[in-house]
Amino acid sequence: MMHLNITNHKTGKAMSEQALQQFQGGITDMAVPVAQIRQQVGIIQQVMKEVMKPGEHYGTIPGCGDKRSLLKPGAEKIMMVFRLSNDTDVQVIDMGNEHKEFRVKVTLSAPSGQKLGAGVGSCSTLESKYRYRKAGHKCPECGAEETIIRGKKEYGGGWICFGRKGGCGSKFEDGDPRIENQNIGRVEHDNPADYYNTCLKMAGKATFYTKASVTEEKRWR
Ligand SMILES: [Zn+2]
Repeated sequence: MMHLNITNHKTGKAMSEQALQQFQGGITDMAVPVAQIRQQVGIIQQVMKEVMKPGEHYGTIPGCGDKRSLLKPGAEKIMMVFRLSNDTDVQVIDMGNEHKEFRVKVTLSAPSGQKLGAGVGSCSTLESKYRYRKAGHKCPECGAEETIIRGKKEYGGGWICFGRKGGCGSKFEDGDPRIENQNIGRVEHDNPADYYNTCLKMAGKATFYTKASVTEEKRWR
């Protein structure tokens, strides 16, 4: 043990052996949390430096300014380093016509079991990107989709099932109802169930991402 010679600032006398031991004990007790905090900060800095790559684990989000945000892979890394665990609770709400909304609640816990917070995210197949698709003309001859183009005026106009787009080469007159009566543009997907998985994943992603970011912000403050 390091030998200390400490004098009492009031009496000018050297501290008694007992008082000295108490004093050193007090410092040692305090020194533990300080060392732990340093260690934790050190771990975060080490993770940031050695593991976190800009653009992969953290980065700017388009439309959200210059502020760097923690991305999902980064959140996962931090959770791993601090041994945080997450409990996921999924709720499925029937929206009619086979459409569903997925609500995901994620609760983050410390290794001690202490709950650090919860986040909720949702996604529904009624959101336009899952509900609609952009439809082109379908070839009445070969059944191919997205292969029909306008024929050039100098070649007589009309419609062509374009070979270079994988079409069969069939030609159709201007005004042909088999082409022109087709419902094109924004059409509903035939089967919302095709998007259940994607939607659930998106809901989970949103939740997880919000949660881990919020918790880490708290931790770093
Ligand atoms: Zn065709």
